[in-house]
Amino acid sequence: MNMLNPTDAEYIKEVEYDLPQRESGAVSIACAWARVPPEPTQSEKAEMKEKIRRLLKEKEAVLVAHYYVDPDIQDLAEETGGCVADSLEMARFGRDHPAKTLFVAGVRFMGETAKMLSPEKRIFMPDLDANCSLDLGCPVEEFTAFCDAHPDRTVVVYANTSAAVKARADWMVTSSIGLEIVAHLHAQGKKIIWGPDRHLGSYIQQQTGADMLLWQGSCLVHDEFKGAELEMLMEKHPEAKVLVHPESPAAVVALADVVGSTSQIIAAAVNMDAPEFIVATDKGIFHKMQQAAPGKVLIEAPTAGNSATCKSCAHCPWMAMNYLSNLLEVIETEKNEIHVDPAIREKAVTSIERMLDFAARHKARVQPKGDLSAEGQLFSGVGPA
Ligand code: SF4
Repeated sequence: MNMLNPTDAEYIKEVEYDLPQRESGAVSIACAWARVPPEPTQSEKAEMKEKIRRLLKEKEAVLVAHYYVDPDIQDLAEETGGCVADSLEMARFGRDHPAKTLFVAGVRFMGETAKMLSPEKRIFMPDLDANCSLDLGCPVEEFTAFCDAHPDRTVVVYANTSAAVKARADWMVTSSIGLEIVAHLHAQGKKIIWGPDRHLGSYIQQQTGADMLLWQGSCLVHDEFKGAELEMLMEKHPEAKVLVHPESPAAVVALADVVGSTSQIIAAAVNMDAPEFIVATDKGIFHKMQQAAPGKVLIEAPTAGNSATCKSCAHCPWMAMNYLSNLLEVIETEKNEIHVDPAIREKAVTSIERMLDFAARHKARVQPKGDLSAEGQLFSGVGPA
C-alpha cells in the first residue's frame, strides 16, 4: 500500500478487510484505506463532464466503467461510446475497441486485466490506489505456497486478484462465468483450488459438487449483507424478488430468487415479472439497473442489524475513489498509467484467455453498450438459486 499524501488526510477513510492465514486457515482483520472527497456542485460537475467529453474525443480515447462507480462517470462512458459493464465485459470491450488509449474507472485489478489483454494500448485509471479487499486479502506469496502444497489441483482464481496471482493460476474467472467453468473442470474429473472469495467458492462448490479447496478471502461489501435482516425485509415486501451477488454469505444466497453477477442481476430485474426487487450487491448498480428496468422498485438489502454498524454500507470505498475530478485530471495529464511486468503478463494472460475462449465457445453474453433492455434475452440462462 502506498504512503498517504498528507494533503489528502481529510478525505481518507480507514477500511478493514479479511486477511486469511494460510497455515492456520484463520482469518485476521487488516486495515487499508480509501480516499473519497466530497461531492462537487452541479455546475462544477457540468463543467468537468464537458471537458472530459472534449478530451476523450481529442485523444481518440475510450472510457470503460464498472457498474459500481459514480453514476456521472457511467453516463459519460455510455455517451462517449465507451461502456458500462461487469469486469469481464470491461476487459473484453477494451480489448476489442479500436481506441489506443483506455481510461478505466473501477479498481486496480480491472486496469491490470485490461492492460494484460491489450498490452499495446495505454491504460490509465483515476486512482491507482483504488483496491479491492479480495485482491488485498490474497497476497501472491501466501497464495502460491497454498497452491504449491496441492500440486494435483487445478488453480482457479477470481478476476479480483493481482496480475501475479492470475499468473499462478490455470484459469481466471469472473462471477458471470465461474460456475460454468468449475462445472466443466469437475466434469473432467479435476480437483480445484479456488481463490480468493470464500462465499463465491462455497456457492460454486455447492452448485457443482466439485472438490474445491477454498482460500478464505471476502468482499467487504457483500460480506456485510445479513440473512436474518433480509428475511424481515422480505416479510415487509412479499411481492419483491430477491437478487443476490454470490460474494454474499450463504444465509443471504439461500434466500435469493436469482443469484448472479452484476450483469445477470440487472438482466433479472429487466426480465422478471415482479414490481419490486431487493438487491444484495453494491448500491452503485442501482443507477444502471433503474435505467434498464424503469418503473420497477429497487430496495437495498440490509447490511447490518439493530445496533450494528456497517463498514461499507453497501458501497465499495475503493470504487468510490473514481470521481469526476480525478478522472478529468488523469485524462488531462495522462498520469496513473497501468504497467504490468511482461513476464507476469505472459503467464497471467493464459489464464484470462482460457476464460474468454470458454465464454466464446459456450455463450454470447455481450452487452458492450450496456443496453440491457434490448439485450436482456442474452441472459435467459439466469436461473433460480
Ligand atoms: S465491491 Fe468488493 S469485490 Fe468489488 S472491488 Fe469492492 S471490495 Fe472488491
